[in-house]
Amino acid sequence: MTKKCEDCGTLNDEHSELCEKCGTSLNSNKSISPESESMSMLTIILIVLGFIFSIFFALIGLIMSIYLLIRGPDRVKIFGIIMLIISLINMIAGAYLGVIGII
Ligand SMILES: [Zn+2]
Repeated sequence: MTKKCEDCGTLNDEHSELCEKCGTSLNSNKSISPESESMSMLTIILIVLGFIFSIFFALIGLIMSIYLLIRGPDRVKIFGIIMLIISLINMIAGAYLGVIGII
């Protein structure tokens, strides 16, 4: 087994702490990835549900999109913004169609 340096691509011994070529820590990436993977799984569920809710239940979608914007990792905040826009369009469209229905 070898460890591939994330920085320069050099293959190092399994037990090496640092890359023998560039000195980058070989363990730093390993310790971060499990946390970010479980985080992204929860985030993916939240994104999928958020889109469903933002289309069918604008108010719940709005709450979920705000939650993603505040609590979510930076790279998923774009989804929060998209959900927020979809929710707002649905709320406006719903209100508009409601007004037409009354008239
Ligand atoms: Zn390296």
